[in-house]
Order: sequence, then C-alpha cells, then structure tokens
Amino acid sequence: MLPLDELYQEVILDHYQSPRNHGKLESPDIYAHGVNPFCGDEVEVSIALDGSRIREFKIEGKGCSISQASLSMMSEALKGRDLSEARSLADRFKNAMLGSSPLEFAEYDDLEALEGVKKFPVRIKCAVLPWNTFLEGLAERKKTEARHE
Ligand code: ZN
Repeated sequence: MLPLDELYQEVILDHYQSPRNHGKLESPDIYAHGVNPFCGDEVEVSIALDGSRIREFKIEGKGCSISQASLSMMSEALKGRDLSEARSLADRFKNAMLGSSPLEFAEYDDLEALEGVKKFPVRIKCAVLPWNTFLEGLAERKKTEARHE
C-alpha cells in the first residue's frame, strides 16, 4: 500500500506546486468563482469555447493542497473536451468522490491520486469544490443563453 500512497502524494504535490493552465482569461465564455469556508479554499475558472468545445481552461486559486491539486487536474482533464462530455466527467468525478465506487478515469488518470482523500470526509469538500464551481459556471451560462433567446 505504501508505495502507491507515496505515488499519489507525489502526483498531488506536483499539481499543487505547479498548477497546470494557470491564469485568467480577459473575456471568458464561462466564468465561475467558488469558496469553501471550511478551510478557506478559493478557486476561479475561466473558459474559452470554440463552439461547444473547451478551447482554453484557465484556473486561479488559493488554499489547501487537495483543493488546488484537484483544480489543476480538472483543468487538464476537461480542456479540449466538448461541454457535454466535460459535464458528465465532472458528474462522474463527484459521484465517485462522494460515493463508494473507486476513482477510475481512463481519460486522465492523475485524478485517481485523489482516491486517498475519501478517507478524510472533511477534505472531500476540498476535492469537489473546483468541480462544483465548474458545474455552476456551466449552469450560469445556460441561464444567460436562455435570456438572450
Ligand atoms: Zn481545503
């Protein structure tokens, strides 16, 4: 067990220390900001679309290693995907994180490093925060689109 745990620790630490897709877009198609008052985590996502495909997925944030690593992994996992595909991946991640099925992601296996977080119920909120923020941004965009129609 130990070697796997250590490997997971390393993957999480690497994303925390060098977040992928770091930055903020000037005029994003989707923007969302989320906070977790329990441990002061903050995440921001700004997304540029190409039709319904995610062309750029930029992230900014501060907080614990779990929230920030999850945010960085999410940007890598969802960048380049179609919105409907991205949404179902986000739903799958949340279900696996909040439920008992293992985190298994052939699409982007770094996510599996977060499996150990499930042993610590308080930290699950940290891991799920970025994904909820993304889904909120998506829902917000739908509302905006509906108003313009
Ligand atoms: Zn946290």
